Amino acid sequence: MVDKRTVTDCTCAFCGANCDDLEVDLEGETIVEVRNACKIGSANYITAPGSHRLTKPLWRANKLDEFKEISWEEAYEKAADILVNAKHPLLYGWAETSIEAMREGLKMAEAVGGIWDGQVTHCHGPSVNAIQQVGFPTCTLGEVKNRADVIVYWGCNPIHGHPRHMARYAPFARGFFRVDGRSERTLVVIDPRKTDTAKIADFHLQVNLGEDYELFNAFRAYLNGCELTGDKIAGVPVDMIKKVAERMRTANWGMIFFGMGLTHSYGKTQNVATAIELTALLNSETKWSIMPLMGHFNVKGVTEVASWITGYPFAIDFARGYPRYNVGEFSTVEVLRDKQVDAMLAIAADPGSHLPQACVERMAEIPLIAVEIYKTSTTELANLVLPDTHTGIEAEASVYRMDGVPILMRKVKDPLPGMKLSSAVMMEELYRAVERKLANRAGKKE
Ligand code: SF4
Repeated sequence: MVDKRTVTDCTCAFCGANCDDLEVDLEGETIVEVRNACKIGSANYITAPGSHRLTKPLWRANKLDEFKEISWEEAYEKAADILVNAKHPLLYGWAETSIEAMREGLKMAEAVGGIWDGQVTHCHGPSVNAIQQVGFPTCTLGEVKNRADVIVYWGCNPIHGHPRHMARYAPFARGFFRVDGRSERTLVVIDPRKTDTAKIADFHLQVNLGEDYELFNAFRAYLNGCELTGDKIAGVPVDMIKKVAERMRTANWGMIFFGMGLTHSYGKTQNVATAIELTALLNSETKWSIMPLMGHFNVKGVTEVASWITGYPFAIDFARGYPRYNVGEFSTVEVLRDKQVDAMLAIAADPGSHLPQACVERMAEIPLIAVEIYKTSTTELANLVLPDTHTGIEAEASVYRMDGVPILMRKVKDPLPGMKLSSAVMMEELYRAVERKLANRAGKKE
């Protein structure tokens, strides 16, 4: 008879909203149903037949050859050889794995004098740079749920990107001081497109593509008492800007969420910096906070863990034996494009599908270790494939939610036979193999 059970209070391992109220039904070790998650979150739990799940370490010396299965011991030896023999390896990814795995990765990058970087480098990197420039008046999602009466989504479309965000934490949520939910909140969407989120907003400001900076500064100028002239600014009628600015000014507790529509449109870091400055200005009259809507379920962890270990959030180079940080010099796209790295470990990121062509070409030239759950474009470019355990489903894991709240993800089922207990265990064992090789090399030199 098949053992049927339900695991409650599971945390979704997909987007940065980290919904932690999921219920998962299992028959034996097979997940048969997921409740409370959105469609994307549920799909992440249920492995579809023919989904190319990786279960054994794979190796090929020549990238044109077929892979052959090898043992974990051999895999660690080969991975350690690649990392130790490289002059300047890149250890990239981490946003879809645990804090514990990141910690091991940082130790490894320091040991081999490599670069440590994460997906944040090309998603919310500009947000992190802006926060360093002008500070960060932020809050937790719980405060938004309980207090916010004006919510602005700028350059993001949570209905599709973070499907439960609006119901769990923002306009539709019933909070302590907002017991009637949506009817007690004003929803403002600022987006060049008429997105599904924009369609349900009280105000949709259809800003011209790439002119967010101008619009932020129009708000700031108006709130500072300047007269706005002309019919439109950045494509938005001036009357509408004034109306929304007045609603912002009279909010009891306001919130700005922003997404990659802002961090990757013209102006990048300066868009976010001026958004933060608008938030600071609104705080001179009432209470406002701001937060990036982060994508991967532990992308916040990348900057948190790297910051508490090295003092820097991402794009960290250990070539001199101590951490240095410089976006544009040590960030993934630049170091791959400019051929500054001669080996790469990519974990839980699939850069082969996401990076620019010149970077992918470099990945094809250099020794590449791919740590992935499924076959991906990156595994197709790799010399060595290390099959990963599904973080937060097959292994307990700590992560940071988009608001910086740490969450312990509950394990739902055992890893597949022959797999490691978690990504962290795999990274720790690999780190030990690297340490042994470095010690041997030092011994031979003496
Ligand atoms: S909103 Fe995000 S975290 Fe929540 S269930 Fe959907 S994908 Fe998962």
